[in-house]
Amino acid sequence: MDDNVIPLVQPKRDEEKLLNVTVTDRKEYAQQRCKHRAVEADETNRVIRCLNCGCVVDPFEHILRCAIDGEHIVTEIMQLHRRRDEMRESVASLEREEKNAKARLRSARTLILFAENDLKNVEQGVKQ
Ligand SMILES: [Zn+2]
Repeated sequence: MDDNVIPLVQPKRDEEKLLNVTVTDRKEYAQQRCKHRAVEADETNRVIRCLNCGCVVDPFEHILRCAIDGEHIVTEIMQLHRRRDEMRESVASLEREEKNAKARLRSARTLILFAENDLKNVEQGVKQ
């Protein structure tokens, strides 16, 4: 080393020393976006891990999400039952209307037959 070179020593900035926690192994974009829908329960390490992105999932968050999803499914089932009952009522009402319409149709046809018969009788009376 050349003795004429005086090394310039910059005073080291020490803001990083203010941190008492260091974040490592940050999530990738896909891991941040993942909904962690399919998981595995690692019995040995006692962690829940996403099968899609590999992240360790918070067990409480996972159970809470399963419970909320379950509530949504139950709500949907109840709505579908209500809708089915409404449709059954609607079908029963239409069937009643159809029955009444058929009865009115039969009655109207009978009246037409009577009217045609009356007309025939009148026509025959006129001819005689
Ligand atoms: Zn995931």
